[in-house]
Amino acid sequence: MLAVPAALMNTDIIFLDVGEHSPAKQVVLPKSPLKAHVNGAFSDPAKIRELAEKVDVLTVEIEHVNADVLEKIQPSLALGVHPAPSTIRIIQDKFSQKQHLQGRGLPVAPFVQIESTIDSINHASQRLGLPLMIKSRTLAYDGRGNYVVRSLAQASEALVALKNKPLYCEKWVPFVKEIAVMVVRSTNGEVRSYPAVETVHKDNVCHLVFAPLRSKGPVVAERARKVAEAAISTFEGAGIFGVEMFLLADGSIYLNEIAPRPHNSGHYTIEACETSQFENHLRAILGLPLGSTALKVPSAAMLNIVGFSDSIVDIRNFSEFALTVPGATTHLYGKGESRKGRKMGHVTVVANSDAELHERLRPLLEKVPGSNP
Ligand code: ADP
Ligand code: MG
Repeated sequence: MLAVPAALMNTDIIFLDVGEHSPAKQVVLPKSPLKAHVNGAFSDPAKIRELAEKVDVLTVEIEHVNADVLEKIQPSLALGVHPAPSTIRIIQDKFSQKQHLQGRGLPVAPFVQIESTIDSINHASQRLGLPLMIKSRTLAYDGRGNYVVRSLAQASEALVALKNKPLYCEKWVPFVKEIAVMVVRSTNGEVRSYPAVETVHKDNVCHLVFAPLRSKGPVVAERARKVAEAAISTFEGAGIFGVEMFLLADGSIYLNEIAPRPHNSGHYTIEACETSQFENHLRAILGLPLGSTALKVPSAAMLNIVGFSDSIVDIRNFSEFALTVPGATTHLYGKGESRKGRKMGHVTVVANSDAELHERLRPLLEKVPGSNP
């Protein structure tokens, strides 16, 4: 998705990823041996260095990378590494991310560090109450790395499920909605937010995104944007950031977590906003003027195409059906194999009103196994 606006801006883009035919490499072919994509793990120092030697600016689409290597190579690049390796380092450890945000006066739910012992979980539950959210500090995604302890009898199960991971606990947040805001930050520190959206998760995986956020008044959405902008202003380096938040019944907002990269909750911007999150990320890291973040349609939704089974045929059938829905755009990621729960693509639907949006979305949702349109 980053390769498409890069091509439109005559910007060469070279990817580092394990597979020779991984999704991004299918979109842009190497122009010459000097510009060939790199095959290797994005945590491998030698491979990161190999990529850095070919480029003027280096960016990431995942935070689970080697921040120390990025820091060392940063001075050798014409335009540097974005976002800053220091930002990636803080964010990739959820506990240090929470400390960073709390230390700057931003709203986060109470949290404590724990040891991997039942005693330590008991202590945390005395301070934060039950249910208690136990989280892996690092390498977590799509809920893998979280464990909800509803009674202390579950403490040992949690330790088994999250074994060998550094942990911390968060107070349970009884949210009424999960919301998200994309924020783009330029090399000189200007921040611009996109509209607030509602995110709906299923089995801990993002299922649907609705833009813009519908709430009792416009105040909540504006406040969410302000909180997200304030959070991103505290980090260094340029690029797009995804800010996940919780909305409580009394209208208050807590920050959940930040992604230092394009984010699933911002995929809707490709069809629904004046500048997509991907184009604005490129503009930001290249030191170009940022683009407008405004919506260009009254109502939009994004539905993830998550693997139903091991069958790629199911994905093909679903996406062919999506082609028949007015206002829908299908994105398939070129992943070779489908697995239950694997993100295979997404569909964005735009409409002139919420009523029209729901009418267009309903037949799509009816095709998703287990969904409740
Ligand atoms: P991931 O890295 O897997 O996205 P998150 O920290 O965002 O992990 O947690 C995944 C989901 O778990 C959130 O989207 C939310 O639904 C739920 N969750 C996370 N933290 C809390 C909390 N403190 N209280 C209640 N629910 C939570
Ligand atoms: Mg999350």
